[in-house]
Amino acid sequence: MVDRIGVVGASLAGLRTVQALRREGHAGRIIVVGDEPEPPYDRPPLSKQFLVEDWEEERLRFAHAAEADPATEWRLGQPVTSLETGPLGLELEDGSRLRDLDAVVIATGARARRLPFGRGLEGIHTLRSLADARALRVDLASSRRVVVVGAGFIGMEIAASCRQKGLEVTVVDPLPAPLVRGLGPILGERVAKRHREAGVAFHLGVGVEDFEGDARVVGVRLADGTNLPADLVVVGIGAVPATDWLATNGIEGARIEIDNGIRCDATGFTGCAGIFALGDCARWDHPRDPANPRFEHWTNAVEQADVVAQRIVKGEAPDFAPVPYVWTDQFELRIAIVGEVREGDEMRVGLGSLEDDRFLALFGREGRLTGAVGFKRPRQLNACRKRIAEGMGFGEAVEALL
Ligand code: FAD
Ligand code: NAP
Repeated sequence: MVDRIGVVGASLAGLRTVQALRREGHAGRIIVVGDEPEPPYDRPPLSKQFLVEDWEEERLRFAHAAEADPATEWRLGQPVTSLETGPLGLELEDGSRLRDLDAVVIATGARARRLPFGRGLEGIHTLRSLADARALRVDLASSRRVVVVGAGFIGMEIAASCRQKGLEVTVVDPLPAPLVRGLGPILGERVAKRHREAGVAFHLGVGVEDFEGDARVVGVRLADGTNLPADLVVVGIGAVPATDWLATNGIEGARIEIDNGIRCDATGFTGCAGIFALGDCARWDHPRDPANPRFEHWTNAVEQADVVAQRIVKGEAPDFAPVPYVWTDQFELRIAIVGEVREGDEMRVGLGSLEDDRFLALFGREGRLTGAVGFKRPRQLNACRKRIAEGMGFGEAVEALL
């Protein structure tokens, strides 16, 4: 019987697992260990409302009910340094140990990827945690010219936020359009157009070679020789799963496989007795997608928590076969993506046009509906998510949904 459960990572995936375990009827002790000092908080507003509207930190916090549960212990500000197998256990940075666990849930998320240069220069930021967001907000207050490296989700959201605060913003990315991986080139260009109208400058198709400055950054040198003056730089070039703490620890004995995230079956089981993983740090088998992609999306962490809790409490759970869902807010644009968009996919736009700020775009491959992007179309997008899961034909989807 599963009684004592250790959860590593006290953020979205960790908290939602605790809540789901209780809903499934787990009455035993749960110990959640998190390296950040704050109780669980929500990350999406960090690049948006926290910067633009100066949100109070309190507004980021999740509901407190799980924290008040006397059978759940929260050890915050304390990284886990090692996972012990055999009798399952965890070692914490302060040398203390949690022993005789019946299950361990790994929910350590991801960390911001960094560039190999510019280390030690002031004024260069990444954004993953509340601590990062605090530091960025303070530094932005005395900056005028911002260079954003990376035109992905973080980069474009921060570019919009900085423009809304009246700062000069330039975005650099080696790809030809922003958000190409999520939206494809045409919708990526549609987003770029809105940013340009707001005064954001772009250097696309060119990489960053180095940062200029002695103590503090004063410029960004691009591969084509351009030098962009900068008071502050935000680097948003992707995230890497936070699994380094596992790499040096009894992993071979534990048989946990790490390959762009902790490999799990389609219910979050690592294959090593009692050990599960979910959220940004985990790459689950996907029953319909042989690439078994790792999703770094809010909704994925939440949905996986239900599956893992069921698997732990009942010993089994149905295979999880998600159609990914992600949203991004930039200026007044409310964009959501379901499924996936790949270069070369067929695309049809309806319920508005590309010139409007409200429309739905459907994407198809090999005759099937494979993705959809909604600009202010949340209801229709939910319908698309169901249809993609059902394997609807692309022609039929165009008829029915546009
Ligand atoms: P995380 O939230 O990263 O939590 C992992 C936790 O584990 C962290 O607290 C970490 O410090 C801790 N940890 C790591 N290693 C250890 C260790 N060894 N010991 C103890 N603790 C450890 N998604 C969307 O779908 N829409 C959005 O609009 C959106 N906006 C975002 C904006 C920002 C600025 C960021 C950073 C992310 C955004 N995301 C968004 C992504 C979303 O927030 C993540 O997918 C989600 O947070 C994943 O949850 P997680 O619990 O798996 O990982
Ligand atoms: P991302 O969406 O993967 O985008 C990173 C971008 O930077 C990509 O376009 C990438 O191109 C580019 N890039 C890579 N190396 C570069 C370099 N050397 N110079 C310039 N550009 C480079 O990642 P992110 O925006 O950094 O976000 C980090 C994490 O936060 C992710 O987990 C993301 O899901 C999450 N997040 C999500 C949201 C949201 O869902 N709304 C918002 C903010 C953050 P390549 O693809 O070619 O590498």
